[in-house]
Amino acid sequence: MIGRTFIGSLLLGFSISVMLNSKEQRIFIKSKISEIDEKILRLQASELLHLSQHDELTNVSNRRTFEEMFTHYYNLACKESTSLSVLFIDIDYFKNYNDFYGHQMGDQVISEVAKTIKSSIRHMDFIARYGGEEFVVLLPNSDVDQAYLVASRISRAVDELSIHHEKSEINPYITISVGLAVYTVEYPVSANQLLSFADQALYRAKACGRHQICR
Ligand code: GH3
Ligand code: MG
Ligand code: MG
Repeated sequence: MIGRTFIGSLLLGFSISVMLNSKEQRIFIKSKISEIDEKILRLQASELLHLSQHDELTNVSNRRTFEEMFTHYYNLACKESTSLSVLFIDIDYFKNYNDFYGHQMGDQVISEVAKTIKSSIRHMDFIARYGGEEFVVLLPNSDVDQAYLVASRISRAVDELSIHHEKSEINPYITISVGLAVYTVEYPVSANQLLSFADQALYRAKACGRHQICR
């Protein structure tokens, strides 16, 4: 075995030295190296692009990407006379959660909620982390009833996570509040108004006791 390995290594070394000595082989190896370099650069560029578009904790889109996507979806809805629904989602009594369970556990909850929202929406819908424990969802081609159904599905899915929240003032588990606003041909509000209405609806959901959807 040792003998065979030794002979094998000798032959391999000989072949490599022959290859390296030949000019064509050197050119070939050089071109392979630059091909690999190019691939690495492409991968690094796409990784950088991903990092600039996504939130590190949850891996959903970040607020900057949201601004771009919102403009895109809003213009599309105007152009094609379709509806566009916006959901603002905020975790209830999250400061209390952080204070009681710690920041790390809080981070885990934010990630879990992001995952849950993502798995409750369609492929064509869009989710982004809007701020600390706040998310925004865009539902193109969805009227108010469809959007309300999606919001209910998301809220129920978060309930079903059953994450204990001893310091919530309304529920023993983590809950969310949702504000919903819809752009339709009948009510063609501006892009800023649409966001402002969703924000006001969320504010109302909080003021009315949390763990609910307001439109
Ligand atoms: P409300 O029901 O009215 O929404 O009350 P709240 O306590 O959730 O709202 P508030 O805006 O007062 O607190 C949000 C808290 O979210 C503040 C901060 O402790 C926490 N938070 C924000 N960003 C992060 C984060 O990235 N990680 C963690 N763990 N906590 C965060
Ligand atoms: Mg909150
Ligand atoms: Mg908040």
